[in-house]
Amino acid sequence: MKGKKKNKLILINPLNPYKKDALFDKSTISPPLGLGIIAGLTPDDWDIEILDENFEEFKFKQADLIGITVLTSVANRAYQISEIYRKKGITTILGGIHISMRPDEAQKYADVIVTGEAEGVWKKVLTDFMENNLQKKYHGELLPMKNAVWPRRDLFHSGYAYSNIQTTRGCPMNCDFCSVHTFNGNKYRQRPVEDVLDELETIKGEHLFFVDDNIIGYNKASAERAIRLFKGMIDRGIKKDWYCQASLNVAENEEVLKYASESGCKMILIGIESEKTEQLQETNKKMNIKIGTDHYEEIFKKIHSYGISVLGALVFGLDSDSVEDLKNRANYAIKSGIDAMQATIITPLPGTHLFKRLEKENRLLYTNFPEDWKHYHFLEVIHQPKLMKPEELYETMKICWTQMWNEKTLYKKLLKTLKVTKNAKAAAWAFTSNMERHNTAFGKNKSPLDINKILGGLPSFNLQ
Ligand code: SF4
Repeated sequence: MKGKKKNKLILINPLNPYKKDALFDKSTISPPLGLGIIAGLTPDDWDIEILDENFEEFKFKQADLIGITVLTSVANRAYQISEIYRKKGITTILGGIHISMRPDEAQKYADVIVTGEAEGVWKKVLTDFMENNLQKKYHGELLPMKNAVWPRRDLFHSGYAYSNIQTTRGCPMNCDFCSVHTFNGNKYRQRPVEDVLDELETIKGEHLFFVDDNIIGYNKASAERAIRLFKGMIDRGIKKDWYCQASLNVAENEEVLKYASESGCKMILIGIESEKTEQLQETNKKMNIKIGTDHYEEIFKKIHSYGISVLGALVFGLDSDSVEDLKNRANYAIKSGIDAMQATIITPLPGTHLFKRLEKENRLLYTNFPEDWKHYHFLEVIHQPKLMKPEELYETMKICWTQMWNEKTLYKKLLKTLKVTKNAKAAAWAFTSNMERHNTAFGKNKSPLDINKILGGLPSFNLQ
């Protein structure tokens, strides 16, 4: 007897056309975890495919239902794809952080929108679809992360150099430029460690990214949870080289660094934002203010002493920034103990206090939405700064980026990271991260640096 034909669900990860060439390096991106989770929530009687524009340009394929994940910078692209399907009478569903922040806009370009987190509501969406009873809008509440659904990693493109996993969501901080607390809530929700370890055991590949906004959390108990997680990886023999994001308090409890290092941590991304208190106050970066800019170097040193490199995220173009401040910040990045330098232009994403304020003050330069969302990718000037003209900010950034990411500086950084971490892989990870920015600044085909030669060969470390 023949089996019943399955319904086809295509899940789409759109790409901002702007990113296609200049801003794009496949060695540093990670798989669309949200779509993997949607696939994991979908019953077996569906045939599921992920169409990932990071690897293949969208081409129309027949389906019964389309789901598209939407970040702000890809919103316009997502709407275009959605419209193609709708014109052919195929139902589209949009979800993701941008949809939660701009539901009224999104509603115009989709049959259905899902706001909030999909876990609590996706099964109902599918049931309603099958019963021909779809509503226009669904909202998923923020649920405890006790029984997290594992993503269907078998559906991700095989070209990704990193696997990824999420172990916590939400943030009690309230930074001016961030929408995490609006989208995932201000409660730090944690998955049980054993569940995370079980999932980790199923992940293939050597390189892993913990996508949590802050893997160690904000208090003693959450730091202890992180230690349990790292110890569990060691005990179960889960061998990965990994990187994560954490706040500056990562160095407060040295056990965190010890077990992170022993379980394979090679690099930690820290939101430094600025080396000056004035800018930290402007961004409401409470943790950094509390710790104090004077202590940054000793924190970097402590991290290095465990063979881990520091990816420092700095932000440029704040209201209190003068041209001189921008140049000083670039100089600080080069001279400080930061190994990999991330330097973005402050970008007001919808759902942030920053966006609301700039919109109210009529200082947004791109407001023809949704078309203009494509500019909101962190390397363009989106607003009228206070102490300079937008062109001045951009021209100064070009100087800063060139200073930070030229070959000479990157070689020097590499040698310095090697010296302070005494760990070739940690140095290679920081260098690769810098190279992504180098390629952005100098064009992706101009990439003469060869880390494998420099370090005498690191098999399977993908730098292409
Ligand atoms: S930037 Fe980091 S610390 Fe600040 S609100 Fe966002 S996630 Fe929390």
